[in-house]
Amino acid sequence: MENNFSYIDENLRIIRERTGEAFSKYRSPEDTVRIMAVTKTVAPEAVNHAVSLGLDLLGENRVQEYLSKKDTYEKSAEVQFIGSLQTNKVKYIIDSVSMIQSVDSLRLGETISRLAVKNNKVMDILCEVNIGGEDSKGGVSPSALNELIEQLTQLEGIRIRGLMTIPPPSESDIFLGRMQELFNKTASDKKDIVSMDILSMGMTHDYTESVKFGSTLVRIGTGLFGARDYGKK
Ligand SMILES: *Cc1c(COP(=O)(O)O)cnc(C)c1O
Repeated sequence: MENNFSYIDENLRIIRERTGEAFSKYRSPEDTVRIMAVTKTVAPEAVNHAVSLGLDLLGENRVQEYLSKKDTYEKSAEVQFIGSLQTNKVKYIIDSVSMIQSVDSLRLGETISRLAVKNNKVMDILCEVNIGGEDSKGGVSPSALNELIEQLTQLEGIRIRGLMTIPPPSESDIFLGRMQELFNKTASDKKDIVSMDILSMGMTHDYTESVKFGSTLVRIGTGLFGARDYGKK
């Protein structure tokens, strides 16, 4: 059983099919939607199986877990950080991830900037937006987004590529629509100082809807790897 990952093949086939259907129905051919495999609690062997199927983008939530797994990942996979990130942990991931999607404060942006400069790199980032205004979730409020972007663009060593969100699970259409509007408006208002081309939106329960509402990157865990086993961590 250990190495029978055929369920991942089947899950991915379904995800690609549904993404493709939503894409051809609602999007223009020159758009793109990338599928990210979200790896929290998933064994590295299963993650590498997904990579072997062509899923070359991995999403990591927890610094500790990522550090324990990263050396076993296929080198061809690109890794982005998507979880809430404490400033004192940035140093552990700065040299090995290609993007940090969860930037929601100037303080976090400043830390990434300082460490990126020190590491001689430019780190791509997304601003995480709390589109549902939920206390339990990270992200900047929509009304504070403009100011955060203006502050972040002053910093060296980081490049804002777009926005990320985790909308509330209920009435998700309303929030996906609001997020699409916010993304389009911000990208256009700020086009002189930043070029935003990524809207990271959509998880297992809402990825097809998210494609409809303009997502360019869907982040899928459960739908690909099955229900998470939190007991094992
Ligand atoms: C866990 C997680 C996902 C994937 O969620 P699923 O419902 O398992 O697809 C996506 N984005 C973030 C930020 C996550 O923490």
